[in-house]
Order: sequence, then C-alpha cells, then structure tokens
Amino acid sequence: MAEIPRSIAIIGAGQSGLVCAHGLLASGHRVTLYSDRTAEAFLSESRPTGVATRFGPALDYERELGLNHWEQSAPMLPGASVTLSPVRRNRALTVTARLTQPGVAIDVRLQSHRWMTDFVERGGTLEIERVSGSRLEEVAGAHDLTLVATGKGGLASLFPCDETRTKYEKPQRHLTMLCFHGPDLQFGDQPFLSAGLEVLPYAGEVFWLPFHHKDVGPSWVVSFEAKWGGPMDRFQEVGSAAEMLAVAREVTRDLMPWRSPLLELAEPSDELGWVKGAVRPLVRKPVGVLPSGQIVAALGDTAIAFDPLAAQGANNGNRMARHWVESIDAAGDQPLDAAWIERQFEVFWTDHGQHAVALTDLLMEAPPPMVAALLVAQYGSDGREGRDDGAQALADAYIGNFAEPASLTPTLLDPTRTRALIVEQAGSFLWAVARKLPGLLLAQLRQLLGRDPGHP
Ligand SMILES: Cc1cc2nc3c(=O)[nH]c(=O)nc-3n(C[C@H](O)[C@H](O)[C@H](O)COP(=O)(O)OP(=O)(O)OC[C@H]3O[C@@H](n4cnc5c(N)ncnc54)[C@H](O)[C@@H]3O)c2cc1C
Repeated sequence: MAEIPRSIAIIGAGQSGLVCAHGLLASGHRVTLYSDRTAEAFLSESRPTGVATRFGPALDYERELGLNHWEQSAPMLPGASVTLSPVRRNRALTVTARLTQPGVAIDVRLQSHRWMTDFVERGGTLEIERVSGSRLEEVAGAHDLTLVATGKGGLASLFPCDETRTKYEKPQRHLTMLCFHGPDLQFGDQPFLSAGLEVLPYAGEVFWLPFHHKDVGPSWVVSFEAKWGGPMDRFQEVGSAAEMLAVAREVTRDLMPWRSPLLELAEPSDELGWVKGAVRPLVRKPVGVLPSGQIVAALGDTAIAFDPLAAQGANNGNRMARHWVESIDAAGDQPLDAAWIERQFEVFWTDHGQHAVALTDLLMEAPPPMVAALLVAQYGSDGREGRDDGAQALADAYIGNFAEPASLTPTLLDPTRTRALIVEQAGSFLWAVARKLPGLLLAQLRQLLGRDPGHP
C-alpha cells in the first residue's frame, strides 16, 4: 500500500492501461481510467490490438492483482518449438524448449471487458470518452499524474521519438493476425501444448499459438510477419477474416506445407478477429509536454512500440505498469514531475526495456554466426526430461529469454559469451555443433526423397 495516496489518470483501457489501473487501485491510489469504448464494445465491435502472449514474470503481476480469470480455461503454453526453414518447403532444424512457467495468449478484447468491469467493482472511476489533446489538458490539471496508454497511434505523438534508442526508420515487417478454430490444439507428438515459431529467413516469421478467444474459448491464432516484398508478403489486399484465411492457406501451402493441416479445418473465430498492419519499432521519450506546459507520462506501446516478432509488447507493458505503480508508491509526497518521470523511466529502461528492444532488434535480422551455432547446438531438444548433452538446457535458456530478456540477450549480442554458454552447457564448442551435422544432413536427405525430415 502507498503511504500517500495520489490521484492518477490513465488514458486507454488496453493491456497496459488496465494492469496499471488495477495496480494503482490495489495500492490505495485514486484512479480514473479513460476509455474510448465501453466494456461491452470491446466484446461486440472491436478488433484485437495484438496477440499479447505473456510469459511468467508478466503473468505473475496479473495473478497478484487478481486478474488471472482464465487460468483454468485458457490453453497454457509450457513450451515452444522453433523451426528454421532456410528455403521454401524445407525444415533445416526444429528445437523444442520448456519454459520455467507457462505462458498464455488471451483475447485482449475479453480481458479489457472483464478488467474494466473489475475496475469499477473495485472502486475505480471509469470515464468513457475519446480523450482529445485539449481534454488531456483538463485531465492532467485535475490529477497528480496522467499516464497515457493509448497504444502506438494518436496521443503517442505527444512523446518525441528517442532517436538514440530507435534503430529503424520504418516498419520492418508487414504483420497479420488471424483468430481461427477447428483443428486440435496439439502439434504432432510434442510432450506438451506449445507455441510454434517458424523462422523463414528469406520470407519472415510465423507464429502458431493455442489461444483463448473471447467467443469460442480455446482455439488458435496465427501471426505472419512478412518481410516487405518477400514471398510471404501477400496479405496487403485482404479485407475480411475469410480473405485472410484464404491467403494464409495459400502462403502456408507454398512455404511451409507441414502446417497446412492446421488451416484445412480452420474457420475464422469471429468476423473482427483479424489484424493487418506494420509497426515501426520505436522508443519514445517518457515525458509529453502539453501546450500549456503540463506534463504527462507514457505507458505500454505508447512508450515503446515493438514489432511483435519477439513477443515483447504486452510483456513489456505489464512490467512497465508494475514499475509505474511501484515508483508512485515509493514517491511519497514528491512531485511527480518531468524529472521524476525521466528518472523512473531510466530505471525501467536499464533493468528491462533495453533488453526487450535489443532482443527484438536481434531477431529482426539474420542470426549472427554464433547465434546460428547456438541454434544448431540446441538440435535434438524435444522438450522431454532426461537429456544430458546440453541441447535441452540451451534450448530452454534460449526460449526462457523471451520471458526474461535480460537473462540471455547480453550474451546473444556477444559472440565470446555465446560461445562460452555453449561450452558451459555442452562441454566443447566443436563437439556441441559438429556432432549435430550428421542428423541435420540426414534430415535434408530425407526431404530430398520426399519424406518427413524426422526432426526430434
Ligand atoms: C500481430 C501482433 C501480435 C502480437 N503478439 C504479441 C505477443 O505475442 N506478446 C506480446 O507481449 N505482445 C504482442 N503484441 C503486442 C501487444 O499486443 C501490445 O504490445 C499490447 O496489446 C499493447 O497494449 P497497450 O495497452 O499498450 O495498447 P493498446 O492495446 O493499443 O490499448 C490502447 C487502448 O487505448 C484506447 N485509446 C486510444 N486512444 C484513446 C483516446 N484518445 N482516449 C481513450 N482511449 C483511447 C484504445 O481503444 C485501446 O483500447 C502483438 C502485436 C501484434 C500487432
């Protein structure tokens, strides 16, 4: 509980705004949440803003706040498998890793509906209005601090781009997301329900995820991350869920036919359950100055916009929400002014934000040679207990880094440290990599003969 309750406004009832609003309420602050739509509208007339798969540390905060309503019904994800496909219709390798805590992807529209209802029941003040620039002046004047969590567009432009922390001048992928249902939730004979990530360096990436949809419950979501102008970049003209499914079938048949059975039985989960677009990965300054000189602070995608290929946006949003809550709790009666906001954001950036951004940037490009060697050293991992060659431990560390990007990203950025990690887990660098080659070559031979590669 905060020693000194403050009055805080939050603009935007998405993932970050709502988690922060609940955190502040739980600490005893007076919170007003401004949403441009009602809880009901999230269910009946909204598009999802993203897949928002969260991992252990981000989910822990939701649990602490009593927001984990779907833990018994949603398909939890204890692990993930990554397939590297260097050319069309070819699987060079697959690795399967376990997470220390399962992740989950829940329809953000369902979450916003429920968490807004909870917020009012728990004593929060909810205002349904689309906050304009001039209205923001009134809101900021009436509260000790105003947090803007309106996502990537609109009010986000109040916060200047931090050029020193922003690598790309434009989006790097064309994105799609489609909610569908029909097929079973399991991939092949994996020991657990897992997220599937296809890496096609010549075309982009594809995520296949067991998902909890607002209407149909446990089902699927797929997200294509197409390199501009590449062979996956065929979704630009789609105008409906059915059209997106048709193009997804075509792309999957053409590039990764082993996933086609998933789409053969698929039907869109709802007419609005699809998204297409592009995100420029962008770090903004945390302070927005209004024309009157009043200040507001950025939260979630408004502060840092991620390309989703490393699944960092919603995870980062939860962690930033927690950070703002803990910082406000600890502030006592200090003014929550621009200097204070900047100091708090620096702590967040140093501890977490920089690593989440660096991981996303790393995955956006072709893997550096030592990271490629790390992937090869993981070959053989199948998610089962009892391996002693280091492959599973390396795979688990690699996937665990998505949940805790500070854990391995600095190592991945440093070839000497990456090599040392391989040696630590697998005994000898050459042995860890070279002994995988016969298996990888055999898999190629099998595919040349028209057979399944036989990867673990
Ligand atoms: C295809 C795709 C896949 C993704 N996959 C993942 C993933 O697997 N894992 C992950 O961690 N992240 C993922 N993300 C990112 C994640 O979805 C976002 O980071 C997260 O949903 C952002 O939450 P937010 O609350 O910051 O913003 P938003 O979800 O955009 O919410 C902003 C809210 O503010 C409201 N609003 C806007 N303007 C106003 C206004 N003026 N007044 C009042 N209200 C307003 C909007 O209606 C909205 O409800 C993905 C994104 C995409 C596009």
